[in-house]
Amino acid sequence: MNPLALAVFATIDESAIDALKHAAETCDPHYECGGVVRKVDGGFVASRLITSYRPFGVDLAQLYDRDVVADFHTHICSIHNKPFADFFSTSDALANQGLRTVGYMLSLCDRNIRRYDPSQDDRDDEEVDFRSGRVLYLTCGHIVGWAPPGREEKFADALGPRDDSRSSGWPGGSGSPGP
Ligand SMILES: [Zn+2]
Repeated sequence: MNPLALAVFATIDESAIDALKHAAETCDPHYECGGVVRKVDGGFVASRLITSYRPFGVDLAQLYDRDVVADFHTHICSIHNKPFADFFSTSDALANQGLRTVGYMLSLCDRNIRRYDPSQDDRDDEEVDFRSGRVLYLTCGHIVGWAPPGREEKFADALGPRDDSRSSGWPGGSGSPGP
């Protein structure tokens, strides 16, 4: 994939925000991608970006070790997850709770970078309206940055019907009618 230069940042925020801006520029917008932030001498360093080649979910376990203090990932902006892209999913929040790490997420819908800290933020403080009538409680954390439109602009026409059969990983994805 795209190895990030091992820039050392003074804060976790700076490291994760920089990494997600790289993600906006370089990741295939059909697939989630992400990585982790590690504590090193003198600051914090982001790992390379990885993807599991799925529209929802990227398996960051392979990057986790005891130096990891935060992780970050993208939410793609397909028709299936547009209503949810700006929120941390339940599994996002539970993972950060369980691992005691801070989560950062870039929504490719509204371009905001959000931060979810399980020691400070509720994971279900927002009621999300859902087409089927089910109500979901998720969190959008706190906005900490913004990534200018990047590569996915070129792919805008391709986002849509593709991946119709692969949306089951998202709590609201199964059974959504296509266009
Ligand atoms: Zn997520």
